[in-house]
Amino acid sequence: MSETPSLLRLLIDAGLFIDTGAPGLYGRSGAFEDVIDRIDAAFVRAAGDDVTEVVRFPPGMNRGVFEKSGYLKSFPQLAGTVHAFCGAHGDHMELLEHLAAGEDWMGKQEPTEVVLTPAACYPLYPVVAARGPLAPEGGLFDLQSYCFRHEPSEDPARMQMFRMHEMVRLGDPDQVLAFRAQWLERGQALVASLELPFSLDLANDPFFGRGGKLMAAGQRAQQLKFELLVPIHSEEHPTACFSFNYHQDHFGLTWDLKTAAGEVAHTACVGIGLERVAIALFNQHGLTSADWPPGVRKALWG
Ligand code: ATP
Ligand code: ZN
Repeated sequence: MSETPSLLRLLIDAGLFIDTGAPGLYGRSGAFEDVIDRIDAAFVRAAGDDVTEVVRFPPGMNRGVFEKSGYLKSFPQLAGTVHAFCGAHGDHMELLEHLAAGEDWMGKQEPTEVVLTPAACYPLYPVVAARGPLAPEGGLFDLQSYCFRHEPSEDPARMQMFRMHEMVRLGDPDQVLAFRAQWLERGQALVASLELPFSLDLANDPFFGRGGKLMAAGQRAQQLKFELLVPIHSEEHPTACFSFNYHQDHFGLTWDLKTAAGEVAHTACVGIGLERVAIALFNQHGLTSADWPPGVRKALWG
């Protein structure tokens, strides 16, 4: 009896994904990227008349900023660091010998000042803080970046390198919570327009280790994170396609971010996983985007 091919297999066989030999690291076809571009544009359209400042950072960030952000306290298991060869001639010879012998050649690799960006918003906060206190209306930013997370998986929706488009709000608690409430509505409207089944749920981040359970429980008790979930590979365990995060004063305190009134700024971000939404669409509506239902075609292609 032949098994049903996995979604990953279907995406690769359809030419939408290109296997690189590493789990969670895929090349993508023009047809897939067209859908990504359309989702990206629909996300920006969902922001309506919002006046956002568009900022783009590369997919690697300043290691000092990363260290100070607190990421390693919560998610050491997901972080990726960039190392480079820093040896002399002899070390180079040694490296080549080890490589030729199929042995570990990383001995003379040293950490660089770059780490891989884990979420699009991380590089933003110190940049805004350096400008001084926020304006009375606070700040609203539009960010998009490739992100890295060390979570190799056969699930095509759990990648190691993927794109996240985020809107980030900085201001007083009222401003920030109003933003999140508004995006909870906008996110649902957007996913509904794509004719995808979804649910909205309270969520927690995958905090590491023994202390992690406590942090996750606290995050839930305070309703700091919501996710918009779409069933992709399982009805029982739907996949987070949108996240709505309230950081309270975490980044404000970390980066000395101040409101116009001199208070510690609060922050929130809403993030869409572009590949996840694209995969959800191919999974739900078929592997040829030209054949998708007219409503979905209209929502994306106009
Ligand atoms: P999950 O609970 O599935 O691990 P998350 O809660 O860690 O996701 P966030 O940190 O809130 O996700 O990231 C924002 C968005 O980025 C998510 O809503 C999702 O759409 C996307 N995303 C997160 N991790 C991945 C991944 N490994 N591959 C593809 N997209 C991802
Ligand atoms: Zn964020």
